[in-house]
Amino acid sequence: MSGNDPIPPHQIAWVFDLNKCSGCQTCSVACKVHWNAESDTDAMWWCTVNTQPGRGTPRDYEEMGGGYDSAGNLRLGQLPTLEEFGGAWDFNWKEVYYGGKGRETFLGPTNGGPSWGMNWDEDQGAGEYPNAYFFYLPRLCNHCSRPACLDACPEQAIYKRPSDGLVLRDEARCEGHQQCMRGCPYKKIYFNAQRGVAQHCIGCFPRLEKGVAPACVRQCPGRGVFIGFLDDADSAVHRLVEDWRVALPLHPEWNTRPNVFYVPPLSPFKLREDRSVDESERRLPISYLESLFGTEVRGALHTLEGELARRKRGEPSELLDTLIAYEWKELLGPFSADPAEIAWD
Ligand code: SF4
Repeated sequence: MSGNDPIPPHQIAWVFDLNKCSGCQTCSVACKVHWNAESDTDAMWWCTVNTQPGRGTPRDYEEMGGGYDSAGNLRLGQLPTLEEFGGAWDFNWKEVYYGGKGRETFLGPTNGGPSWGMNWDEDQGAGEYPNAYFFYLPRLCNHCSRPACLDACPEQAIYKRPSDGLVLRDEARCEGHQQCMRGCPYKKIYFNAQRGVAQHCIGCFPRLEKGVAPACVRQCPGRGVFIGFLDDADSAVHRLVEDWRVALPLHPEWNTRPNVFYVPPLSPFKLREDRSVDESERRLPISYLESLFGTEVRGALHTLEGELARRKRGEPSELLDTLIAYEWKELLGPFSADPAEIAWD
């Protein structure tokens, strides 16, 4: 199968509501401890949450290229370095706790001063006080409908699973060329140097096959992530993406047709110097949101603001009820089984 082959009809999809994401990193850590806890995988975070505006993970990944041009030709981009991903570093625990130096020392990194890491520019954002702004953006492999990683692989080691559209790897075929990393414009595929193979989010497929939601979805304390099938007309993901059109892919211009979608962040109005409210302008520039989610973001925000206004007038809003998720299992679609009650092989 190539990235241009027919798209599986039963496509799994994620929807992250950015108005609910508090940047707590629970999804990142849940994924990390589940899949990347082995040694020498410090730089591999299949799920990352970054502050926007920001340089992202790996650093400046949006400038690295990849994906397809508007004529559908594969573009191979830059291969991120380990330093750009940013790994872990050691701290001087022993010196602080057992060195007998008291207040003469303090906790700090010991291995030469790291220059980047996952969520390095946390909460820096942009804008000037009192109109500074930022929001959080969780990212994982988009399990794209046109996966550039798959097209770039010279060994046909990457495939799109027909049953649910997950983009998976056959590690026995992978020869470690890292062309997939150049093809992926999101830079969401990593190289495990110890094993000599590329690795990326597998959608927690062993959990899905038991009816359990992926760790990033199930563990989110903010009820901020939905999962389900795009072709299931009753699912929250279908309604948010296809019916209400309030959930949008990141960087659609990279032409890989991602299946991770985002409800864009709403923003307060700007404050004038005298601290009065300027209702002509939002604090979060629409041009910035368009640079991430494309021009459809205007329509999505318009719909969300319209529904908020309805609710303020005391009228019902099915869209807001869906996003609030009063019953948390509504987030999980067909994957609401309790992992504690499953017999794992
Ligand atoms: Fe491949 Fe990157 Fe798309 Fe994931 S996000 S399917 S690694 S191109």
